[in-house]
Amino acid sequence: AVLVGRRVKSWRRWGRAVGVLREFEEGCATPIGRLRQVVDAMVVEMHAGLASDGGSKLKMLLTFVDRLPDGKEEGIYYAIDLGGANVRVLRVQLGGKRSMILGHEGESNPVPRNLLTNSTVELFDLVAMTLKHFVEKDENGHKLVVEKTKELGFTFSFPVKQKSVSSGVLIKWTKGLFIEDTVGRDVTQCLEEALARRGLNMRVTVLVNDTVGALALGHYYDKDTVAAVIIGAGTNACYVERTDAIIKCQGLLTNSGGMVINMEWGNFWSSHLPRTPYDIALDDESQNRNEQGFEKLISGMYLGDVARRVLYKMALESDVFGDAIGGLSTPFALSTPMMAAMHEDESPDLREVARILEETMQVLVPLKTRKLVVRVCDIVTRRAARLAAAGIVGILKKMGRDGSGGAPTGRTKSKTRRSVVAVEGGLYAGYTLFREYLNEAIREILGEQVSRNVVLRITEDGSGQRLNRDSCRQSQTVRIVAG
Ligand code: BGC
Ligand code: MG
Repeated sequence: AVLVGRRVKSWRRWGRAVGVLREFEEGCATPIGRLRQVVDAMVVEMHAGLASDGGSKLKMLLTFVDRLPDGKEEGIYYAIDLGGANVRVLRVQLGGKRSMILGHEGESNPVPRNLLTNSTVELFDLVAMTLKHFVEKDENGHKLVVEKTKELGFTFSFPVKQKSVSSGVLIKWTKGLFIEDTVGRDVTQCLEEALARRGLNMRVTVLVNDTVGALALGHYYDKDTVAAVIIGAGTNACYVERTDAIIKCQGLLTNSGGMVINMEWGNFWSSHLPRTPYDIALDDESQNRNEQGFEKLISGMYLGDVARRVLYKMALESDVFGDAIGGLSTPFALSTPMMAAMHEDESPDLREVARILEETMQVLVPLKTRKLVVRVCDIVTRRAARLAAAGIVGILKKMGRDGSGGAPTGRTKSKTRRSVVAVEGGLYAGYTLFREYLNEAIREILGEQVSRNVVLRITEDGSGQRLNRDSCRQSQTVRIVAG
């Protein structure tokens, strides 16, 4: 009787852990109907964001980039990439007629933790110092800077209200950088002042978001590239819009009739998005509550922590983690790369899962529990990938490239245009299951035939190789504009 009693007890506890899992799974469900609602909500919000400033949580920011490079660009350029925990500097050589990037070299420095929240001056000083070291080490570069090339490209991966292609004001920080006194300031000016303090007489000639860099790079290689998506620490997208559709900016004239719009889709929100109590708690405890809602469901900054929260709940409700709570209660103890590694563990006894749980969160768990852990990772990642896919289809739909605008039957084939979306960031490029779920969802929403004309192409490092002002200007290619 004692044995049977014990059995029943542990079975019940196991049942409770499974209950937590089931409930989470239901809360994260993304059936095709719901994905379609997200697609449509994205289109509606895009329209609203283009209609007026503040018309939507989607800011739909002007970039003043109206032409994309086509591979004829030439010369050597310096670039700075500030996107979060790292600052990078690069020298890029473009090959001109041979239509290729000849090479790029650079250096990357972590931004020390305290600088992520300290002061504007300290952050930009670090950026300036990193560039100065790089230029001085590079003899060729040094000569260039002293003699002629004083132009600098600045990739700044945060929402900026641009005043021109080379300047703009920070709207807010995201992704763990929270320095209050930068908000509302012109980030180009902040950088140029820091460069001057370090004795570097360089000017920022192009200021772009990383999505715009990815779009430019994608387009450099493939002229059918019409949009770009980043799914890394943060997430965002940009695409080419017709100027006459940018209602909030009447009379906007560009040579091409189009302009790249930085959507800032990380801040997208819709009641159709599947949201669980874990997501709500994460948001409540974040430094930017009620902001970046889409990003918190999709990007690498957050996914690991959503999974950790579910595991923690299981540990509290059952004994599948034994008595030790370990690091399960510690925010961000489980990073997204670690979560991905557990998810993709193919060993029969889930050895990687065991190792990671032990090393990052000091818990030792039996195989049966490890299997639950993998399922949690799967639910978190699948939801993220499918929502990102719905976002991408939303953009294609807004551009009339989702096959729904419909050429008459029979002519569909010749009419459907090839659409390439440049995708950058660790989740898509480095996480196979995420990529597979995303691609699968796109096929599911668009159908086999249409999705054959949609190409998701991984661009490596558009932030660094992103283009200078000349390349934005000289390019001939403007016909990619929708319509
Ligand atoms: C920022 C975007 C950026 C994206 C990807 C988001 O948090 O708001 O500007 O493009 O991360 O890096
Ligand atoms: Mg980046």
